[in-house]
Amino acid sequence: MARYTGASCRMCRRENLKLFLKGERCYSDKCSFERRAYAPGQHGQNRFRKVSDYALQLREKQKVKHMYGMLEGQFRRYFKIADRAKGVTGLNLLSMLERRLDNVIYRLGFAGSRDQARQFIRHNHFQIAGKKVNIPSIQVKPGDVISLKEKSHKNPLIVENLEGVARRGVPSWLELDKGNFQGTVKAMPNRDEITMPINEQLIVELYSK
Ligand code: SF4
Repeated sequence: MARYTGASCRMCRRENLKLFLKGERCYSDKCSFERRAYAPGQHGQNRFRKVSDYALQLREKQKVKHMYGMLEGQFRRYFKIADRAKGVTGLNLLSMLERRLDNVIYRLGFAGSRDQARQFIRHNHFQIAGKKVNIPSIQVKPGDVISLKEKSHKNPLIVENLEGVARRGVPSWLELDKGNFQGTVKAMPNRDEITMPINEQLIVELYSK
């Protein structure tokens, strides 16, 4: 699957928000956003730019797209599905993004970033209900049990990530059983538990033009 391969830290600086794309580095003093909290590029420190409604909507979409590590075509497809589904489009979209397997592996603390979660999934480290899974975009549902394959229990990166899980916390719609290297989807994600500052209505407005 195609993916963005540019500089992750640039995206945080562009969106003026820590997107936590690089695992441990994001929590350390090496974080570029902590060092240079202004937009990249020649005019990045110019604070007096007039921002149109369209620019606000576009930036919000770009921010969320980068946060979940998606490309434009895939993100737009998600929006179309969210728009056709019952309920509020913006919430449907966020729910779909949260229920991606790569996001769930990240939220459970097995991976330090969604990017790393995608790599682990493609390398066949995880199973759902005991069955092999290697597609990061799979949507999980309540009742699904996601487990780390036994041969990966000693993977040093995963072990290290799990040790730091308390710092990030696990949302209440998921349950981590650290001792057994598995997690359960207890419910559909709740809007209140998506704590990153996201205004999904701006994305709806952008795509509804
Ligand atoms: Fe963003 Fe993490 Fe880079 Fe900091 S280290 S700028 S939070 S990706």
